Amino acid sequence: MRKQIAAANWKMNLSYAEGEKLIDELLAAGISLADHQQVVLAVPFPYLTMARDRVAGQKNYSVAAQNCSQHESGAYTGDTSAAMLASIRVPYCVIGHSERREYFHESNEELARKTDRSFAHSITPIFCCGEPLEIREAGTQNDYVAQQLSESLFHLSAEQLTQLVIAYEPIWAIGTGKTASTEQAQEMHAHLRAVLAKQYGAAIADQVPILYGGSVKAGNAAELFASPDVDGGLVGGASLVAADFAAIIRALK
Ligand code: PEP
Repeated sequence: MRKQIAAANWKMNLSYAEGEKLIDELLAAGISLADHQQVVLAVPFPYLTMARDRVAGQKNYSVAAQNCSQHESGAYTGDTSAAMLASIRVPYCVIGHSERREYFHESNEELARKTDRSFAHSITPIFCCGEPLEIREAGTQNDYVAQQLSESLFHLSAEQLTQLVIAYEPIWAIGTGKTASTEQAQEMHAHLRAVLAKQYGAAIADQVPILYGGSVKAGNAAELFASPDVDGGLVGGASLVAADFAAIIRALK
């Protein structure tokens, strides 16, 4: 079975102490994961080693950075390289979250370089894609996300693609309380998998976990995750409440 992943995106929230408490509460829920299930906590940079150490020893719990530099090293004040993340044993990195695309103007080309930097340091990219509301209303969302994939990912080898995680996050559903319907999510995930299959073949595309993100809650996770091409979720708001995120983890297939 494909990997099923519940990924928490804390964004720029919580103090260090609040972060410690949240992880402790989450682990106190005592959820043991099956071999094919994974929990990933994308925490702010200063909390990465704390979060890594707290989940150490918990089967299939790990951490992610929320971003990395497109550059290997050098005079990029304020940036954090994939090499630095690897040096503190961070196994995942979120790349191309819509907030970074919008507020930091990250282009598909820049995200291709970030993906490359991650792979160069054996970090698994959680590559985000998704359309804004006006594209959904125009009905051109399939072409829009296909272009995001082709411009950022299609230079990768088939071997690299099997190491990748994709998160489909319709921008109109992020932090809005408005979730894509189960049908909309499944339809888009199947489309993304078909786009990957066209480029790399079905056997490769079938191995790539595709997470849904956009107002996933304790109450809707099970229904969303039940769809055949939805392999878990990337969760913002609800990941900041231990009981809610625990319920979302329990909803994994
Ligand atoms: C996100 O931050 O990636 C996200 C999906 O946020 P929310 O769950 O709050 O919509």
